[in-house]
Amino acid sequence: MKILVLNAGSSSIKYSLFAMSDRRVLLSGILERIGEAMATHRYRLSDAEPVYLELPLVNHQQALQTLFSSLAASGAVRDGELACIGHRVVHGGEMFRQPALITPEVIKQIAGMIPLAPLHNPANLLGIEESLRLMGKLPQVAVFDTAFHQSLPDYAYRYPIPAELYSRHGVRRYGFHGTSHGYVAKQAAETLGKPLQELNLITLHLGNGASASAIENGLCVDTSMGMTPLEGLMMGTRCGDIDPALHFYLGRSLGLSLEAIEKLLNNDSGCRGICGENDMRGIHAMADAGDPAAKLSLAMYAYRIKKYIGAYFAVLGRVDALVFTGGIGENDAWLRQQSCDGLSALGIELDPARNQASILPCAAIHADSSRVKLLVIHTQEELEIAIQAETCLKNLN
Ligand code: ADP
Repeated sequence: MKILVLNAGSSSIKYSLFAMSDRRVLLSGILERIGEAMATHRYRLSDAEPVYLELPLVNHQQALQTLFSSLAASGAVRDGELACIGHRVVHGGEMFRQPALITPEVIKQIAGMIPLAPLHNPANLLGIEESLRLMGKLPQVAVFDTAFHQSLPDYAYRYPIPAELYSRHGVRRYGFHGTSHGYVAKQAAETLGKPLQELNLITLHLGNGASASAIENGLCVDTSMGMTPLEGLMMGTRCGDIDPALHFYLGRSLGLSLEAIEKLLNNDSGCRGICGENDMRGIHAMADAGDPAAKLSLAMYAYRIKKYIGAYFAVLGRVDALVFTGGIGENDAWLRQQSCDGLSALGIELDPARNQASILPCAAIHADSSRVKLLVIHTQEELEIAIQAETCLKNLN
């Protein structure tokens, strides 16, 4: 069985084709700058050299036409071999706890969630609708970033604000990166040789966006991102947790509009706000060269991770493993060390040599004496979407 995974953004479409028998990527690519004067298409067939093309793509329809044509031309998938398309959908609200076979009703429901994810759900929907137009006979499955967090108890997902805002407008914590947290939790269970249902985990997805999850007996019971992906950990350009009254100050005292405040907190804050750089490798280079703002940014980033580890330890009581993932979590040994520093009272003891040597897709970096296992696991969100789409299809038959 072969499954194509699509992640449609407002001006880009990422895709991967999987052979499900051995979970191998046969072809992966990205179309970018859709709608601009010249778009780009980068793709790579298994072990072949990457291909880079520039071409005009006025909209998602043309971009997907290009994608499906190059898929057919690549030979990676022959007629009738593609079993389904799995679509990443950012927001599934309270409606979707599981992946869903796409029907007109499901499309309506995803559209209904646009007010909760105005930047993401419209682009995800466009990808779905155009794929249906072009490949209508193929089953298509929506896999939601929020679904893994639907197991949160009400006292964790509700905000202490007037109840009507929840009951009438859906204002609550939803959480994001659920596909990644769910995937690395399963991988951790496999590595530890225990059923996921018996494990308590803290998972840290640290990429451009960053979030932490507390997982009890295999179910997510708390997560750091909230109604939107702005809450929680400090990120590349997003502020994470701040005093909500800051908004009034920015508006009233500094005269910023709501749009300006939104941009400031989403695009110009986090590491970029502190030191002018949002890419972690760049921040390390600046810090190594002695830049005090970069050093502060690193210290703040690690400190805020540590606070979430402490909070989720209190939530879970017992923690079997702490899992690092995402571009930063997987590669940044210094940050892993700083985030775990001084937590031996919680049973967290990192082994410096194992931390430095960690080899992906999965490495154990704890000291032999550590009560809590410390794991670095390579996340594979596209593969997890393919696996969930496959399960959804099997359940239908
Ligand atoms: P996204 O959230 O967009 O998927 P990634 O998970 O790829 O992003 O993470 C991107 C981040 O990972 C960037 O800040 C990048 O600097 C960081 N990163 C990648 N490789 C390394 C590395 N070797 N050391 C430190 N940070 C790294």
